[in-house]
Amino acid sequence: MKHLIVSLFFLIISCKKTNNSKVKSMTDKKVVVAHRGASGYLPEHTMEAKAMAYAMNPDYIEQDLVLSKDDIPIVIHDIYLDDVTNVSLKFPRRKREDGRYYVIDFTFEELQKLQVTERFDPKNGKQFYVNRFPKGKGNFKLHSFQQEIELIQGLNKSTGNTIGIYPEVKNPAFHHTNGKDITKIVLNILSEYGYKTKSDNCIFQCFDAKELERVRKELKSNLFLIQLIEFPEETKQLKHFASYADGIGPWYKQIIDKKENGKWKFTSLIKDAHALNLKVHTYTLRTDQLGDFTTFEEHVKAVLIEAGADGCFTDFPDKVINLLKK
Ligand code: CA
Repeated sequence: MKHLIVSLFFLIISCKKTNNSKVKSMTDKKVVVAHRGASGYLPEHTMEAKAMAYAMNPDYIEQDLVLSKDDIPIVIHDIYLDDVTNVSLKFPRRKREDGRYYVIDFTFEELQKLQVTERFDPKNGKQFYVNRFPKGKGNFKLHSFQQEIELIQGLNKSTGNTIGIYPEVKNPAFHHTNGKDITKIVLNILSEYGYKTKSDNCIFQCFDAKELERVRKELKSNLFLIQLIEFPEETKQLKHFASYADGIGPWYKQIIDKKENGKWKFTSLIKDAHALNLKVHTYTLRTDQLGDFTTFEEHVKAVLIEAGADGCFTDFPDKVINLLKK
């Protein structure tokens, strides 16, 4: 751990030297989002993964958010705890009837007692990405949204850099069913920390279209909004999305058609989105999940250069940034 912290320190120092003059433009520069932090190298959504991501100098660092029992937004990808923590050992009696452990059933104080580990399948204990950080090693913890904002804003101050945040409220409908308004809570925190408008270095994302429309129209947020897209039929609702959102976040497979005579062909999604003045940030580029691509370079080039996406989410921000420099 000591070694890691020392290396992070030197990485951050080197960022400071090279990036003071960085001008972030939403129009021409490709936006690199550190997906769950530098999650290709350290357990996702840990402070360590966020500090390492910061040192890689992405444009944004992502936060997935789920509320605790006492309404603290926790930075975690799922409403469940059992695929990234030791909750089943620590609190064996606290599972629901479906056998799962829910973030929303635990207080922030209880959640901080859990060890976080590399993602695994709770049914068989097998690590999801076998070549990543070893499961069960190290000492990683859950943290709140506020703690992560303070880490990133603190590093922005100490390095002179200007890295943004990219929060996602997870499953707002589930939160509503459990009597909680996660979106309102998160928007209030963002406002307290100075994220209020499109120029405040924050992008707000959500899969739930009704909820994101509510963010703009009912809750009157002026933040930059990205409508995440999960299902193919949603790609036909671009006009509606453009009535409240600033961009879309599709799965990269929704922009790729097929390979023909050695060249990738693309769907009309990016062109259609751009015609409506919507930015396109695709998810998720991983060196260890290439799909139909032969190399990571081919993958990055197809999505960001040939297809023309405006940005991407990646577990390996350093690799995408290096490839873009070429
Ligand atoms: Ca996410």
